[in-house]
Amino acid sequence: MSTVQAPTQHVPTKLTDSIKLVDEAHAKTNLLGMTQAQLSNYFKSIGEKPFRATQVIKWIYQHGVTDFEKMTNLSKTLRDKLSLNACVVPPKIIHRQYSDDGTRKWVFEVTGGSLVETVLIPADDSKLNGRKTLCVSSQVGCALDCSFCSTGKQGFERDLSAAEIIGQLWVANASYMTDENESLENVDHSLWENNVTNVVMMGMGEPLLNYKPVVSSMEIMLSDHAYGLSKRRVTLSTSGVVPKMYQLAQDIDVALAISLHAPNDELRNELVPINKKYPLDELIAAAKNYVYDVNPRHKKHVTIEYVMLDGVNDSNEHAHQLVALLEGLPSKINLIPFNPFPHAPYDKSSNNRIHAFSNILSEAGFVCTVRQTRGDDIDAACGQLVGQVADRTRRSAAWQQSIKDRENV
Ligand code: SAH
Ligand code: SF4
Repeated sequence: MSTVQAPTQHVPTKLTDSIKLVDEAHAKTNLLGMTQAQLSNYFKSIGEKPFRATQVIKWIYQHGVTDFEKMTNLSKTLRDKLSLNACVVPPKIIHRQYSDDGTRKWVFEVTGGSLVETVLIPADDSKLNGRKTLCVSSQVGCALDCSFCSTGKQGFERDLSAAEIIGQLWVANASYMTDENESLENVDHSLWENNVTNVVMMGMGEPLLNYKPVVSSMEIMLSDHAYGLSKRRVTLSTSGVVPKMYQLAQDIDVALAISLHAPNDELRNELVPINKKYPLDELIAAAKNYVYDVNPRHKKHVTIEYVMLDGVNDSNEHAHQLVALLEGLPSKINLIPFNPFPHAPYDKSSNNRIHAFSNILSEAGFVCTVRQTRGDDIDAACGQLVGQVADRTRRSAAWQQSIKDRENV
């Protein structure tokens, strides 16, 4: 008897139905996304003891509780006060898709009607023991306009708040704990477990251009009272906003990935335009600072992301240039087969080319991996978020028009 796999499900969500309406967030203070320090200040401001922050953070993140009535170690008076003045509201899910390989994707409508996507990618390697990586967005769109990135082509709409950023992780974890109808009503919160093991800030947007909300969210990811993820399991990916990389080194210790994509300034100016502002020598210096200065006793490295574009940046010569460029910077290199999108001006490098490129790097002593694209059946690969759903900004419309004009010539 053959097994027939269920097709990808397109299930309308009910998760947010059972929690508070998003509209309430306007009238009440949303406690989601507040760091321990911010929440302590909030409690002080309403005449309560700051240690309440720890209790509430544990309820929200370790037990998935959004209803103050269920926070049973708070007094009835405090619960009533919170219900009146505060709320815990994750972003509103408008669509979710779960694929057969375990990949999950959510489309959120954030305040103002913009859409962002979040993708959960499980490891397919049993040695990785249940690793589940969540690819989180930091902005609606992106202003940096990298030539191979569909988010860049949509232009920049707005920054996400900390509630909208950490809310993506909250929803992903909740999706494993709720019942079939995704209602929180009958969940036994004492049995709550957070299933997401790794977070990568590699969804829509440039995280270092939305600095404070991103850092606050990562603090919550690391906090033992909240998600308690180890600093190696939270990765911030940047295209190279150099001054903010120095600031990050001061503020928080997480894994750093750099979207390099080219081994010389001429090519990188073309692919990653922010390179014109912060060229490679400045970027590499900032990366070295991050690796060496955060905690000199603790051995660190950066991850170098390099998208493989056929005939553009994938020659042996480019690989040799990359080896020279990275000398003195402890790095692991992740080659990413280009993920095509409609009207993209590039093709993916062939497997043979990727293999040859990777060999040169390995022979030079670098740990080099090739990213497996997962979740293709629901268009859920990182770096290509929202493509179909958020074709909404004027800039995107203009871009589409320019493509049409070119095609008509
Ligand atoms: N703005 C940040 C994080 C989001 S992009 C950054 O650029 O690092 C996350 C990763 O996906 C980056 O390495 C980016 O270069 C890559 N990416 C973007 N578009 C891609 C595409 N079409 N195919 C493959 N990778 C892509
Ligand atoms: Fe922005 Fe990153 Fe896309 Fe470049 S690759 S446009 S920085 S999201």
